[in-house]
Amino acid sequence: MNDAKLTRQLETWFRANARDLPWRLEARDPYHALVSECMLQQTQVSRVLEKYQPFIDRFPTVQSLAQAPEEEVLALWAGLGYYRRARMLHACAQAIVEHHNSVVPDDVKQLESLPGIGRYTAGAIASMVFHQREPIVDGNVTRVLLRLHNKSVPQAEKETIKWAWQRATELVIVADKPNVLNEAMMELGATCCTPKNIRCDQCPLRSHCQALEAGTTESIPLPKPRAKQKRMYCSTIISTQDESVLLEQRPSSGMWANMFQAPTIERDDHHPTPAEIGEVLSIDHQQLTELGRFTHITTHRIVEFVVYGAIGVQSTPSRAYRTLEALDQVAISNAQRKAMALAGIL
Ligand code: SF4
Repeated sequence: MNDAKLTRQLETWFRANARDLPWRLEARDPYHALVSECMLQQTQVSRVLEKYQPFIDRFPTVQSLAQAPEEEVLALWAGLGYYRRARMLHACAQAIVEHHNSVVPDDVKQLESLPGIGRYTAGAIASMVFHQREPIVDGNVTRVLLRLHNKSVPQAEKETIKWAWQRATELVIVADKPNVLNEAMMELGATCCTPKNIRCDQCPLRSHCQALEAGTTESIPLPKPRAKQKRMYCSTIISTQDESVLLEQRPSSGMWANMFQAPTIERDDHHPTPAEIGEVLSIDHQQLTELGRFTHITTHRIVEFVVYGAIGVQSTPSRAYRTLEALDQVAISNAQRKAMALAGIL
């Protein structure tokens, strides 16, 4: 495989075909790039497009994000999922202010030492913002490389990832512009060399692609064995009074850490009964009306929800009423939003 020729062809293709995304500006602000890269991890571009600009409008600088209360950061992140990333981005902004004089470092090793910044994000900032000859590898890049080399292996395996970084390093060394090559690899994986419905007819690397030649594009990479998801049972009680809804905050660790929710009782093996709920909330269970049921699926869990309505459940030190108008400023998970929708809220 002629690496120099391959990288030139890919860079030329990208210059002509790149999608117009708001964070793809010629001169990138390092902090804005940090935000977009954190948002894009495991999240679709279309979803990030909705959330990126309001986040930047509210936190235009690394200092403004560092100083913001976590609750507000989580509220602006709502809808992107994987809230740990929002917490890490917040901690990262605080570390940049505290240890780097509010300047995003340009060195991969320094970037990797920041909270929440792994090898991928460090490489992305170093190459795309500071134009350093650093590789980046994500799922899209790995898939493209595996198909180019006709390697039939699961893409999340340690050995595969190590090989992909090695190969991406070799390519970025001979690239004309490392930032363009890196973005081009990811763009090719997102638009042509996709997991399904591969568009090899539009691919600039057809003449190099060993999987295309072998007729194996569809079967590369091999599927990864799926992790078993744990099942959970939740009863959520939507209690309203005077245009307000009763909310509690989740613990600071575990699923949906620190986020707000309508009072929710969780069990591993069964739905809490109305009698159990009545005991926990100190109400007569006959006050509860079932509003509906749904299943919420996350990477590691299948969560079965039953949603009840109630009126005027007493607030406590850990549960307080919040006005419906102010719910936009509260960090509420997608699952809880679904539950509130069943009660006609949100
Ligand atoms: S020719 Fe097809 S399989 Fe090969 S890199 Fe291009 S899009 Fe992917």
